[in-house]
Amino acid sequence: MLSGARAKKRLKKRILLLLILLGFLLAWSVLTFLILYIQDTVVIGHYNGNLPKDKHNFTQVIGDGMDGHDALDVITMMRGLIDHQVYFSIEELDTNNYSPIDGWGEKGRSVTMNMTEEIESLKTFGINQFNLFVSDRVFVRRSLPDMRRRECRSIQYRVDLPSTSIIIVFHNEAFSTLLRSVNSIISRSPSHLLKEIIIVDDFSKRAFLRSPLEDELAVLSTRVPIKVIRSKERIGLIRARMIGANHASGDVLTFLDSHIECTEGWLEPMLARIKEDRKNVPCPIIDVINDNTFAYQKGIEQFRGGFNWNLQFRWYSMPSDMIHARVGDHTQPIQSPTMAGGLFSMDRRYFEELGAYDPGMDIWGGENLEMSFRIWQCGGRVEIVPCSHVGHIFRKSSPHDFPGRTSGSILNANLMRVAEVWMDEWKWLFYKTAPQALKMRDSIDVSERIELRKKLRCKSFK
Ligand code: UDP
Ligand code: MN
Repeated sequence: MLSGARAKKRLKKRILLLLILLGFLLAWSVLTFLILYIQDTVVIGHYNGNLPKDKHNFTQVIGDGMDGHDALDVITMMRGLIDHQVYFSIEELDTNNYSPIDGWGEKGRSVTMNMTEEIESLKTFGINQFNLFVSDRVFVRRSLPDMRRRECRSIQYRVDLPSTSIIIVFHNEAFSTLLRSVNSIISRSPSHLLKEIIIVDDFSKRAFLRSPLEDELAVLSTRVPIKVIRSKERIGLIRARMIGANHASGDVLTFLDSHIECTEGWLEPMLARIKEDRKNVPCPIIDVINDNTFAYQKGIEQFRGGFNWNLQFRWYSMPSDMIHARVGDHTQPIQSPTMAGGLFSMDRRYFEELGAYDPGMDIWGGENLEMSFRIWQCGGRVEIVPCSHVGHIFRKSSPHDFPGRTSGSILNANLMRVAEVWMDEWKWLFYKTAPQALKMRDSIDVSERIELRKKLRCKSFK
């Protein structure tokens, strides 16, 4: 048994130990708080929640001997800011910084930036919602690997394939991505199949998209006729494509986005499908050009287009019986309920007969489903041609402004037109998810498109 004095002494010792421990805890908490507080102050001090005004100071801060750890924090923070609305001066927007560096992005390889370059690149990312800094340093005639399966490479296509007009519409596209698109078309398509390239400028504001672009295109037009059409007002991609189609004279219309790259052998299998049947509407496999590194990555061949009841386009895996049926021959086209919209070919007269596009649709969105439903319901076929590979820069958010209205109201109005004209009683499933679109029903006139549907004797949505 312990005596009373010894027990007291031990208790005192325990209390002392506890106090020391508490002291440590307190000191640690205060220190952590201070560190966090200082970091926070730095962050808020640099940005003020407003990148545009501060971003020039910001470069200086990094130049002043920031270590790797700080720089990484900065990159993370700036990446976060990309998602926010960022304003650039007119001078910044008008500057063309295209100056390729030897080897960057060659063979479709990913570009690796050092820390300074990465930080630099994040400053202009918001202009196009892809890495403009990298794009401007990748040669506009860079090499790409042949993306086709071996079976595709040995196919002999018939000699009497139809010719095509290529139609590219753009709004404020980057100089380097637009020229890379055009160059890849010219260098990887048989010239006798290329009737012309028609470029429709949907009222872009960038100075470099005027005479500097025209000078470059003038050089390229010695190899294939190139027409540039400029809209005097913002008309949106749907009406811009219709203008392009009106100026086209090829047997086939091939629509492409303004930030794509065609790979070897992409065109022949598309045109061969239309030669087979003019009601086939072929789309290439859409490969991915990484929006940050510009790496050219192979797209997934097992996917085809679908949609959900919000009327959003979605990729879905092929049903298993379809996968099994293709085992013997992977070169066969894949029937697809819908198309992504940016890249496809269509017999020119068939495009007109089928009602081109719905001119009531504005700016962006929904036209791909409208076109897909119309094709299937009125006797045509949307398909993906696995031997044709075209890369596209997929973006995480849209760089476009939607003049006068919100992007949501424009998209809803477009989708309402799709639902009203083509979806019969299934439209209610859409309206259930989009009550805002339902509200527009009384004020939007779709009677002309309903007439078209009757005239073409199209089938029900079911
Ligand atoms: N575009 C256009 N006018 C617009 C919006 C888009 O001409 O008002 C062009 C754009 O430059 C691109 C194509 O339409 O070439 C498709 O747009 P985007 O690439 O933004 O759509 P996404 O591929 O992201 O669906
Ligand atoms: Mn695009």
